[in-house]
Amino acid sequence: MITIQNVLIATDNSYATVDLQVVDGKIAAIAADLDVVGTAFDGNNKLLLPGFFNAHTHSSEMWQRGIMSALPLELWLAELYDFAPLDLEKVYLSALGTAVETLLSGGTSVVDHLVLIPGQELETIATATRAYREVGIRAFIAPLIQDESLTAGMPSGESAQTHEPYFRSTVATLEIIEEAVRQFHRPDEGVNILVAPTGIQLCTDALFEGCIELSSRYNLCRHSHLLETRAQEKLAEEKYGCTAVEHLKRIGYLSDRTTLAHCVHLNDADIAILAETQSTVVHNPLSNLRLGSGIAPILKYRQAGVNVTFGCDGASSNDSQDLLEAIKIGSILHNVTDSDYQHWITPRQAVEMASLGGAKGLNIADKLGSLTPGKQADLVLYDLTNLSLLPRTDPIGLLVLGRPTNVVNSAWVNGKQVIADGKLTTINVDELRQELFNRSQWETKRKSQTVAQIEAHYRTVMGLRNTKKHG
Ligand SMILES: [Zn+2]
Repeated sequence: MITIQNVLIATDNSYATVDLQVVDGKIAAIAADLDVVGTAFDGNNKLLLPGFFNAHTHSSEMWQRGIMSALPLELWLAELYDFAPLDLEKVYLSALGTAVETLLSGGTSVVDHLVLIPGQELETIATATRAYREVGIRAFIAPLIQDESLTAGMPSGESAQTHEPYFRSTVATLEIIEEAVRQFHRPDEGVNILVAPTGIQLCTDALFEGCIELSSRYNLCRHSHLLETRAQEKLAEEKYGCTAVEHLKRIGYLSDRTTLAHCVHLNDADIAILAETQSTVVHNPLSNLRLGSGIAPILKYRQAGVNVTFGCDGASSNDSQDLLEAIKIGSILHNVTDSDYQHWITPRQAVEMASLGGAKGLNIADKLGSLTPGKQADLVLYDLTNLSLLPRTDPIGLLVLGRPTNVVNSAWVNGKQVIADGKLTTINVDELRQELFNRSQWETKRKSQTVAQIEAHYRTVMGLRNTKKHG
């Protein structure tokens, strides 16, 4: 039990100073001058917000942040996989790192679209689960699956393309996910398994249908990439003769517990389908900029009534896990897309998208996402005396539009404190730093063999001139 005293919370268009009690992991009461239950925390000059959701990332990409070449997604993925860490210890450390950076930038939940080590799929999931349990962040582990090889993710264009079969069968892949659900899916303990086919570009209908079946049987959320690039838009047309959204609707993948990362290249009819199926868009603005994918039409989504939340995406396409940065860029980026400033995202709307928007996407808005008595206590306390939040103006404006640095004073997940005085209480971050340092080295340019093999075809189908200069 805890009581946070004299803390600033947001009210309709203003702020109030209140006390907040947490009992049995839930918010018990919010009002002025409450009795102290359990441990008292001084909320003076601090802002309390519901924890945010880092609603799409890939933790093991942390090992390649800062080094990836300037390439569009399809070629970038080829480079990424050529140098992917196939090492459980690295999976463990990057999951810890992703969790820590998420917590220190206001997130209390993470959706990890987790890249699996071939042949050690369940071990990879077990390792990430262990890391998230140790840190104490609420984890939504979405094992990334596909049943087609990487080259199938590119449109064929005029040419006849053949692709290697994927190394693991669709049935075997679905069995791995079902076993992961049996072993690790424990929502009451803050660990959730999601079905997460990577996207239409590398998955057959059989895989999507198997995932829908598992989702229904075990009550699992669904996650996927969707129309991140122009190439995927073309590919969907080649594969289905309609848009990817129309196809996903037809096979029944879209629902009120389906979150879709990116959603950059959708038309108005697609947007109406997302609204009608109550699907959620996860906006990853930094990744979309870094890979040149485009600007997702977020203001259109909001006007159509589509739920939107934010993700950092993996650290190889970002190259950080700073959720406050994603929220800032993901809000103001869209001002250049619509001259009607009444549509622009305000800092308070951005905070709601990052908290309640995430909870809605994962179908737990009745349990998380706002400071409401009866909801789980996933809370973040920001220090308003931090230099980056001064001088004093509107606290939420400073937090969203500023460049907040080390501003998280405390955080709780399910009522359990995981950050105190700006430091993790659950793991030793100095040891983590040392391990990340020891297991890496300063590097410069690398040569990706797969990029060399597929680049000419990519340039041709995307209408780019082939020259010898690149690579
Ligand atoms: Zn992604």
